[in-house]
Amino acid sequence: MSIKSEETWIATHRERLEARVRDFTRFRELGLIVRSGDFFPSVHYPPITMYPETTEEALLDDYVLPPDGRFDVYLHLPFCEQRCLFCHYPVKFGRFGDKTHPETERYLDALEREMDLFRRRLGIERFQARSILVGGGTPTLLTPAQLDRMLTGFKERVDCSHVTQFNFDVDPGTLTDRYGAERRRILREHGVDRLTIGVQSLDDAILRKMHRPHDVATALASIEACQADGFQLNIEFIFGYPGQTLAGWVRMIDQAARLGVDEIQLYRLKIEAYGDAQGPIDKIVRLRPQELPAFEEAIRMKEAAIEILAEHGYTENLRRVFSKDPSKYSHYAHNQCCELYDQVGFGLTAFSSLRDRFLLNTQSFEDYYRRIESGRLPVNRGLKRGLDDQKRWAAVLPLKNRDIDKARYLELTGIAFEDAFPELWDQLVAEGLVEDKGRFAGLTRTGAFFADEVCHQFHARSYIPFEPDEYAPGPLNPYRVRQDSVEA
Ligand code: SF4
Repeated sequence: MSIKSEETWIATHRERLEARVRDFTRFRELGLIVRSGDFFPSVHYPPITMYPETTEEALLDDYVLPPDGRFDVYLHLPFCEQRCLFCHYPVKFGRFGDKTHPETERYLDALEREMDLFRRRLGIERFQARSILVGGGTPTLLTPAQLDRMLTGFKERVDCSHVTQFNFDVDPGTLTDRYGAERRRILREHGVDRLTIGVQSLDDAILRKMHRPHDVATALASIEACQADGFQLNIEFIFGYPGQTLAGWVRMIDQAARLGVDEIQLYRLKIEAYGDAQGPIDKIVRLRPQELPAFEEAIRMKEAAIEILAEHGYTENLRRVFSKDPSKYSHYAHNQCCELYDQVGFGLTAFSSLRDRFLLNTQSFEDYYRRIESGRLPVNRGLKRGLDDQKRWAAVLPLKNRDIDKARYLELTGIAFEDAFPELWDQLVAEGLVEDKGRFAGLTRTGAFFADEVCHQFHARSYIPFEPDEYAPGPLNPYRVRQDSVEA
């Protein structure tokens, strides 16, 4: 379908968009969504800020390697050219891609040392990787020589011979600037085959408001160059950002769907941080509140994007990621969040998600360097899960991202999924939010739209992200007492 004009498209689809807003209003009244209309992304269970302080010994002394010895592996590079105003990550800014910048080499040294400390702690020669993700920050800000050094050092420590996918998160400008072609060549030579490009918008005025270091022409040029190189390509967009309009968003998603990329990823602007570091967006919104689209408008944007993408043949594959070909998705995300395979992460703020435990690295650069230089892993928070947390963790992540595989659930918890939350499940089925799919249990289309909030239903009371008085006292208030809650 071709959008003759975004206004016509909106008028034709108005009833569908308003039906989603009515769902949003109804679920707020039922206590599923907080009264303010805000949201909290269900990325980990427990949420990442809620892990207690602990030590590497407490978390790893009795750890047993997975039966196949394989891990999904993450590497984190926390350096960027400039601060995007929506960003909540602890990142350093400046010319870190400059070969003379002393901190780049210091950090790359520390990363290698951390991998060495971790493999020694596990008693293994090399990590056996199943899939890989390098993220940040902007990992492609490194000079070609630094990029090559990092990937060479990584592969000395990580056996990549069984890797099914090697992912890299990239910023558009770093693939088209004077080093761009060389960086792409180095990525290909090291086996990188899937890229996520942080496009964020195809409107120069919005990109400037986001303080992104690229413009639309650069984003389009980087997409074209990566397609020509044969990378599997995922491009990301934010909705609900100050200055965005529904009409502009509709026009942009239609344009994005015509670019021929493999995957399109959407995420909603989060104003209050959901990790440890608050980005500047809350101040921007306080200064110019009139520019922020209402939460209802953000709901319309999301529904409009789902519709437009479907009209172009893209359907939701992993949560928030749309593809035409169901085989095109992030293996790293699928393995970690749906299969719940063991995953290790290296670098500042990186985490390791293991079968029955979670390890989180420090958020402070100085603490990161200090711990590694004294021969310690930079882990400072984490949790070994008891049965109750395990039962919730094994439901929340797969439900959020795809479906709960009942056989895998039983393997990870020793409990049949049908016996884990019977009362809650029946209630969510009655509300049309979840459904039994035979081997799998998952979200309905409506449940998928409100996936974060549905997943909060499975949280222990102490890990619900908003305070009790922020929810309406309805039948879906996550603090309500239920028979099948161990805390009832
Ligand atoms: S959003 Fe990404 S590119 Fe922008 S500052 Fe944050 S980590 Fe860097």
